[in-house]
Amino acid sequence: MQIFADLHIHSRFSRATSKDITIQQLEKWAKIKGIDLLGTGDFTHPLWLKELKENLTEDGSGFLKTKSGFTFALQTEISLIYSQANKGRRIHLVVLAPSFSIVDQINDWLSKKGRLDYDGRPIFNISCPEFVEKLKAISKDVEIIPAHAWTPWFGVFGSKTGFDSLEECFQDQTKHISAIETGLSSDPPMNWRLSKLDRINLVSFSDAHSFWPWRLGREATIFDIQPTYKELINAIRTGNGLIGTIEVDPSYGKYHFDGHRACNVRLAPKESTKIKNICPVCKKPLTIGVLHRVEELADRPEQFIPENAKKFFRIIPLSELIAHYNKTAINRKSTWDTYFKFIRAFGTELNALLKASFEALCQVTGKENEELASIIVKNREGKIPIQPGFDGVYGYPVFDQKKSKEKENLSLITTAKTEQKDLKEFFG
Ligand SMILES: [Zn+2]
Ligand SMILES: [Zn+2]
Repeated sequence: MQIFADLHIHSRFSRATSKDITIQQLEKWAKIKGIDLLGTGDFTHPLWLKELKENLTEDGSGFLKTKSGFTFALQTEISLIYSQANKGRRIHLVVLAPSFSIVDQINDWLSKKGRLDYDGRPIFNISCPEFVEKLKAISKDVEIIPAHAWTPWFGVFGSKTGFDSLEECFQDQTKHISAIETGLSSDPPMNWRLSKLDRINLVSFSDAHSFWPWRLGREATIFDIQPTYKELINAIRTGNGLIGTIEVDPSYGKYHFDGHRACNVRLAPKESTKIKNICPVCKKPLTIGVLHRVEELADRPEQFIPENAKKFFRIIPLSELIAHYNKTAINRKSTWDTYFKFIRAFGTELNALLKASFEALCQVTGKENEELASIIVKNREGKIPIQPGFDGVYGYPVFDQKKSKEKENLSLITTAKTEQKDLKEFFG
């Protein structure tokens, strides 16, 4: 059974999240997006956990069900802040758990180490190996996945507080790490360049802070499994049943390039290396992005494709395409009107983005807006140039390169593009 899963999200109890996030809203928007299995987010937070227990039922599959049968997996994210080798470390980990009773045991232990109630993504002064060892002692079925593995501040490989290898970080507990989350700013071809990640499976989730469809499910992982928690973690651990990932173009991510947000400096890794990674405006060290870090740690050339490579689809959200095409904001009524025309025609956003034919898309847009249909096709073929994100600023699609002042900076991804025929093979 094909399952589109987004297993890293947040509740309204996490910082900088939408205050309207409820289980009902998450279910509603996951269905519109085309996501079948959603992480609960924030199971460490007492108020959110109470809501989960009141609204969702355990049915023996290891997942939770809403009244109408939608499926959630118990999930949280933890921020570990500690020091190792004279360097301050800040690592975010996604945690999956098989039952409320295991969640209660995890929360029990964590509440002795610090507070759980001030943020849906709580901070602890616990090292990564200690954290993994303890959780595994609570239950072998707990899964721990380094979140957005490459981001500068909280990624296990991040330029600011990260490590050069999983072994350096997790030490004797590395054996329990089977997968990493690519994060928005990296995609599978970038990760394939490190031979030391060959045994690691790549998963992709949205880290959504709201339920809006340009956040929820913008990245996801595709499984072909029976819908049980056991099969899910088996697929994450072995790769069997893990079909591939949905990714945004990595340039779209907030940390793809190097730069300084405050100085409005955006640089490709080669350019920052030339100026010794020092900002030409404020003369302080640049925030080194994900592409640069991959380049530093890679032992293989670009374009390398490993034998067991999974499929991946590179798309940016539909709302984003419509808003840029209409030169308007993402949450304007006109954007929503067009968005829902596609949802009515194709059932879900992912159907429209990945499966709908050009002709079918044209029937929705009408003759006068056929260009929007061709943008949706270009999107799935990876042919929309993106102005790369940097230092916390999202990248954005550029539809008219001739009119763009910054055209020399545009990144057109050249690695392993998704071809129309791959999509046909996959979705029929
Ligand atoms: Zn997160
Ligand atoms: Zn600067």
